[in-house]
Amino acid sequence: MGNAERATVVSERLFAEARAVIPGGVNSPARAFASVGGTPRFITEAKGCWLTDADDNRYVDLVCSWGPMILGHAYPAVVDAIREAVGAGLSFGAPTRTETELANEIIRRVPAVDKVRLVNSGTEATMSALRLARGFTGRPKVIKFSGCYHGHVDALLADAGSGVATLSLPSSPGVTGATAADTIVLPYNDLDSVAAAFAEFGDQIAAVITEASPGNMGVVPPAPGFNAGLRAITAEHGALLIVDEVMTGFRVSASGWCGQGGIDPVDADLFTFGKVISGGLPAAAFGGRAEVMDRLAPLGPVYQAGTLSGNPVATTAGLATLRAADAGVYAALDTNAHRLTAMLAEALTAAGVPHQIPRAGNMFSVFFAEEPVTDFAAARASQTWRFPAFFHAMLDAGVYLPCSAFEAWFVSAALTEEAFERIAAALPGAARAAATTPEPKP
Ligand code: PLP
Repeated sequence: MGNAERATVVSERLFAEARAVIPGGVNSPARAFASVGGTPRFITEAKGCWLTDADDNRYVDLVCSWGPMILGHAYPAVVDAIREAVGAGLSFGAPTRTETELANEIIRRVPAVDKVRLVNSGTEATMSALRLARGFTGRPKVIKFSGCYHGHVDALLADAGSGVATLSLPSSPGVTGATAADTIVLPYNDLDSVAAAFAEFGDQIAAVITEASPGNMGVVPPAPGFNAGLRAITAEHGALLIVDEVMTGFRVSASGWCGQGGIDPVDADLFTFGKVISGGLPAAAFGGRAEVMDRLAPLGPVYQAGTLSGNPVATTAGLATLRAADAGVYAALDTNAHRLTAMLAEALTAAGVPHQIPRAGNMFSVFFAEEPVTDFAAARASQTWRFPAFFHAMLDAGVYLPCSAFEAWFVSAALTEEAFERIAAALPGAARAAATTPEPKP
């Protein structure tokens, strides 16, 4: 279906209504089409690898709710489990067996984690992990990396990826100078700068937080030895290493990126998880060494809580998703990512568009760039101005991509031959649109 035929009348009306009562019409800036222009599609239904919008357009979904939906949408075993859980009540504010089962499933997959606390969002997980690291060490400062996004935690917004990068925000008003002063922002993949920061502030640094493999400045995998180097430096200085697996966790492998048996095993002190472990409902977690985790209330003095934390329906969805995510699912995710990146490279090469397609397991993104991208500065220097035309050509041809040059693409195991045919038909035109977009005048 071509551009002209793809009606967006209803989405446009719904977006106008939303903008009147919701800032920017969205409840998370990354959805707003801010850097690509046009109207965000209002989704009415999602099944398998397909999305349907309010104008009855169907799209192949390569966003997967920004990561969680590895099985595809409305996966029957997950939906059935949720239905049963809903029938038993929505929220109790009291412990349930499912919480322990979900914690055990995480611990089984990441043995460096002894104990888990469930929360409602990735932001809450990183915020709580950071507080715990500060409480445990008695130190104020944290090192984060430029282009890494850890949710909208005050202390971690500086030079962040995801929507912060898409909207070109250096940080955010509302984050006080005192909060920002305790955050040291360093270039990604640069162990020398980490060593230099520890040489200067070593006894004040509570933690280094890093994305296990960054996916919020586009996909920029860690250089070999980078995560292990962070482990060594933090251990040497008595600081904690927090590995943020909210995006990678249980998506890139059964053990995530850094779990034993994963792609780049590193025994961090604390891990954060979200997205996949939620099964698509609001749930996330942080976990780590018992000695550290036991400093949390009620055992220890570091306070952390949540009315809906460990919600029975959300934990059921997460558990059902993890239990369904067997070796076959991970093999399908890898095969689909491999096939898709090959198709993408072929189309961009044929159209003469300079490109890099970095991969982190089954996560990948495209940079319109001549040279490999290893940090946020290089990501920002890429030809992002080619992206809106590429994005809209794909959308018009029925393929739903992340609406920013700085976001990862997410496959599901549910991609079908029909979906691949749709993508194959869309790519050449989109590549030509990227090729013919003129560079904006400075
Ligand atoms: N950490 C990482 C690596 C993420 O990618 C995200 C969200 O994309 C978060 C934390 C924040 O998670 P949430 O959006 O659930 O608050």
